[in-house]
Amino acid sequence: MNKGKLLSTLPSVDELLNHEDLLNILKRIPRKVVVEQTRESIQRERNKLLNMKDEQLENYRIEENKLIQSTIGACEEFMSMNLKEVVNGTGVVLHTNLGRALLSDEIKEAVWSVASGYSTLEINVGTGKRGSRYSHVVEIIKNITGAEDALVVNNNAAAVLLVLGTMAKNKEVIVSRGELVEIGGSFRIPEVMEQSGAKLVDVGATNKTHLRDYENAIGEDTAVLLKVHTSNYKILGFTDEVTLEEMVELGKRTKVPVVEDLGSGVLVNLQKYGLTYEPTVQDSVKAGVDIITFSGDKLLGGPQAGIIIGSKKWIEKMKKNPLTRAFRVDKLTMAALEATLKYYLDEEEAIKKLPTLRMITETIEPIHQRAVALLNIILKENLDVDIKIKDDYSQVGGGSLPLEKLPTKVLQLTSSKLSVNQLEEGLRLNKTPIITRIQGDKLIIDLRTIKERDFPIICDALKKVLS
Ligand SMILES: *Cc1c(COP(=O)(O)O)cnc(C)c1O
Repeated sequence: MNKGKLLSTLPSVDELLNHEDLLNILKRIPRKVVVEQTRESIQRERNKLLNMKDEQLENYRIEENKLIQSTIGACEEFMSMNLKEVVNGTGVVLHTNLGRALLSDEIKEAVWSVASGYSTLEINVGTGKRGSRYSHVVEIIKNITGAEDALVVNNNAAAVLLVLGTMAKNKEVIVSRGELVEIGGSFRIPEVMEQSGAKLVDVGATNKTHLRDYENAIGEDTAVLLKVHTSNYKILGFTDEVTLEEMVELGKRTKVPVVEDLGSGVLVNLQKYGLTYEPTVQDSVKAGVDIITFSGDKLLGGPQAGIIIGSKKWIEKMKKNPLTRAFRVDKLTMAALEATLKYYLDEEEAIKKLPTLRMITETIEPIHQRAVALLNIILKENLDVDIKIKDDYSQVGGGSLPLEKLPTKVLQLTSSKLSVNQLEEGLRLNKTPIITRIQGDKLIIDLRTIKERDFPIICDALKKVLS
């Protein structure tokens, strides 16, 4: 058939829409979507025909059934959630692009009941009067950290902005040149400072800052001595920094409050579990820092949030700042945060039950067992893939413990049929996307961040990609 004739046999949108299969999906997919996807399927077929050479056209027929099936597929794809679960095979535990910390399964009910029903968010049931949304977590934060008061905002970036905007607007903030951190995206200490209305006074040198550098910079306009935890990098070699204790002593002597941006905000001493020491929130409180800020979804292992703790006098002032309203956390975050924090009343429980802490402290044996189990499931399928268990290292991620190398077990895959890039892409485009790493010409799946319930997903995806 020639091109003109073939084009004239293309069905119309109305013709296709009358087909039984499409009428059927109209029962569960909005008409608007089905019409649009039908139109697009026809357009794709038209474009395909227009691009065909004469010899290809010769035996070509338009198959209406194929058009209908591809329309149904497209409708389902359109209706499926765009924000959905993925399998994290990267071994990066706090993967910012994959949503950072995972909440524990056990707090589902706490979050869902508040999400789907009315709640005590801002009512004091004791008095019947209006309550504070922060009250649900303040006591437990005080209990765990030893701080005098607490406030929660949307994330740690907002926390730093609120703190500086409240304590140092139109005044000076002294910070070491070694701590002018960029956290990724556009969070840079000098820029946050500017946005808050505070004036940055940087002192010392990149590798060395002495107490006298801070001391000499203190003047009439000094409002805050700021310490920023350089969470995502380490300066090694000929270095010197002022300890928190020294800074607090200087602050007390000169009556300038000390603020610390702790970044990750870990609540347990990870050294006990074989990791590098990461300054804990409790240590900063003990040192006497006036105000401390940290994230909810890094090493704390909770929902996205920025937690501010410290002196009641300053926190009261922050609550009156209109930014607090703008940075307000919602009830889902509050529920998830309260439920997560409860685990910390028993440290062993926190390590066992919070996915982030469990994954970063997990020993090599259970990871190896999962590697063997997944390997065996895949081998049973007799796929055209070469697969081995190898030693490797996972990362904590999220700008936390940047030098920590966690020994792990990975599956290393190669296929004679597909290039490593094709393999990686195939798994990534799976219905439940599987995110992996490429190392040279090998595909790497790190078992540290893989759960048993991911096994069938990985196996089915490999079957599809390799068939
Ligand atoms: C991660 C980090 C931030 C930003 O925290 P978010 O919760 O991601 O907004 C700020 N400061 C430091 C030192 C950090 O490590």
